[in-house]
Amino acid sequence: MSTTTEQGAAFRAEVRAWLARAPWPYGLRNYGGTPEASDVPAGRQWQRTLADAGYACLHWPVEHGGRGASVLEQAIFAEEVARAGVPRQLNIVGPDLAGPVIMRFGTEAQHQKYLPGILRGDHLWCQLFSEPEAGSDLASLRTRAGHDGDGWTVDGQKVWTSAAGAADYGLLVARTGKERYQGITAFIVDMSLPGITVRPLRQLDGESKFNEVFFEGVRLPGEAVLGEVGQGWQVATATLGQERLSLGAQAVGMFEALREVAEAARERNLLGDVLADTITSLWMRIWLLRATWLRAISADTELSSPAFSVLKLVSSEVHRDLGDLATAALGADAMVDADDSPLVHRMLVGRAQTILGGTSEIQRNILAERVLGLPREPTR
Ligand SMILES: Cc1cc2nc3c(=O)[nH]c(=O)nc-3n(C[C@H](O)[C@H](O)[C@H](O)COP(=O)(O)OP(=O)(O)OC[C@H]3O[C@@H](n4cnc5c(N)ncnc54)[C@H](O)[C@@H]3O)c2cc1C
Repeated sequence: MSTTTEQGAAFRAEVRAWLARAPWPYGLRNYGGTPEASDVPAGRQWQRTLADAGYACLHWPVEHGGRGASVLEQAIFAEEVARAGVPRQLNIVGPDLAGPVIMRFGTEAQHQKYLPGILRGDHLWCQLFSEPEAGSDLASLRTRAGHDGDGWTVDGQKVWTSAAGAADYGLLVARTGKERYQGITAFIVDMSLPGITVRPLRQLDGESKFNEVFFEGVRLPGEAVLGEVGQGWQVATATLGQERLSLGAQAVGMFEALREVAEAARERNLLGDVLADTITSLWMRIWLLRATWLRAISADTELSSPAFSVLKLVSSEVHRDLGDLATAALGADAMVDADDSPLVHRMLVGRAQTILGGTSEIQRNILAERVLGLPREPTR
């Protein structure tokens, strides 16, 4: 569905008016794509409020409770929540990654069991992909799922699992055979099962959003498999495509961040020619990013397409540079205020953007090989 400029303006006015009067849950802050454990109660309630008002999972088809929103509507919504200073949704993994791959690969029973809980924020999801020896090279993962009667037994370790401590369900990829790609299967894991241990990791910015997750003899029922046995690599690449798309969506909220940076510099009398030039060039990069994002999602592009690597690469590097600019705008206050300034925090988390969802080097490799047709890297 496409939206005319007039319809877009009307939708923007409707969302802005709703955000101004919506009941914000106590303690809700703009925590970005992933809540800390202490953000989860307010985040769940916010997702429920969005669902009641018809603003949850805008991009989902109407049959699954979404709005089947046009590209422009999704961009407008992301911009307006950024402007209001609230999260777009409970977290990225449920609505943007798990939901769409369950719709695509899941059975009817899985649709009915899991999609409503994601839509309404009853269930928080995490993504159990990266391992200590398998990050960029995800296909070398070693967590094993072995046949066990009608079900499976999982042993192994995941790492960098955002929100695992508070998650109800996880989307797991595990090794079920020897073949590098065909030997991988995707599972839906109930995070409360015996044998799962979650250990939080403390980050550079003082928060603890991600975790190590250990599996010791975890019994999964047969119906935990998502897609076919051996189809896990396809599920994983579709999930990563969704993730790149979703990270690109954050771009449209960056105008608000840039405005805050300019304001901080102006307040401190630091908005000289050099800083103004940098702000202008970032402003242009954000516009280009917004246009690239709109084009990528309007073209109905296959999720494994390298188009999303461009989006991920550009959006994360703009994000990082915006964070660095924030400290320049604060001047010496960046040191004094280091603990509680949201702008200093922006600089610290900006660094993570070029790593999560596939590093900038990996995106460049994908673009070099699959778009420019350069020789492939030798595989180990
Ligand atoms: C904030 C944050 C949240 C995250 N959340 C999750 C999550 O919820 N679930 C999850 O599963 N994972 C998550 N991750 C993990 C993330 O997906 C990995 O960190 C990422 O894929 C990189 O893997 P790695 O850390 O093992 O680095 P490595 O793969 O070990 O890479 C180390 C360095 O080598 C470079 N490198 C590696 N291979 C190549 C190559 N072939 N060519 C050129 N350079 C190369 C990389 O670019 C990087 O600079 C998260 C990461 C961050 C930062």
